[in-house]
Amino acid sequence: MSIATRWNRVCEEVAQTCIACGRDPREVQVIAVSKTVGEEGVAEAVGAGALNFGENRPDALLPKASAFPQVTWHFIGNVQSRRIPDIVSAASYIHSLYQAHHLEKANEAAAKLQKVQNILLEVNVSGEESKGGVSPQELRQLIELANQLPHLRLCGLMTMAPQGDKHIARACFDDLARLLNEVRPLISVENQPFFNELSMGMSEDWQEAVAAGTTMVRIGRAIFSDDFENDERQA
Ligand SMILES: *Cc1c(COP(=O)(O)O)cnc(C)c1O
Repeated sequence: MSIATRWNRVCEEVAQTCIACGRDPREVQVIAVSKTVGEEGVAEAVGAGALNFGENRPDALLPKASAFPQVTWHFIGNVQSRRIPDIVSAASYIHSLYQAHHLEKANEAAAKLQKVQNILLEVNVSGEESKGGVSPQELRQLIELANQLPHLRLCGLMTMAPQGDKHIARACFDDLARLLNEVRPLISVENQPFFNELSMGMSEDWQEAVAAGTTMVRIGRAIFSDDFENDERQA
């Protein structure tokens, strides 16, 4: 099956799941996570109509974003301080910020480029030690800092669910959706209109994320890998 066929199928399934949940399919953006493919793979997805792409390494983001400036690039990976200027130069959205000094550095880099950087804050809802993200308790402090950084536009929250159990994933996504509403009163007046995004759901758990209210699903293997369906069937 081709990338274009898989892209179309994923979009159709996401739309059908939205409708089954009583949601408008236009509320959910599918971000094609292209980290496992080269520019030919991106070109194929662009040709099929994909408008949003995600990358988790600056070294892959930069060349792809400059080769395909007509689509929107999302940085979803581990943020290293020294790469923040590069990431800010190429990404429309950064999903994976959660350290105070990284927020400050991203604000500085955006100021230099005279841009407003869209960001989401990554939250470690599950509390797994292996996962990045701020704890739900520390989120408030981070929001207060973001409110003071004029070149950052705080658009929402991101999380990764523990793998392997759909009920646990669903609970994790429900928690993030609840948190978005809980912290909304803390968001600055300027950012209030933008603070609507929930970046949650990947190839294995996007159905749970749609049911929980996600607005951005980050899907890699189900679009770009031949093996994904086989793995799912065996699982
Ligand atoms: C790779 C990756 C994804 C996509 O995962 P798949 O299981 O391939 O859909 C989503 N989010 C992040 C942060 C990733 O690193």
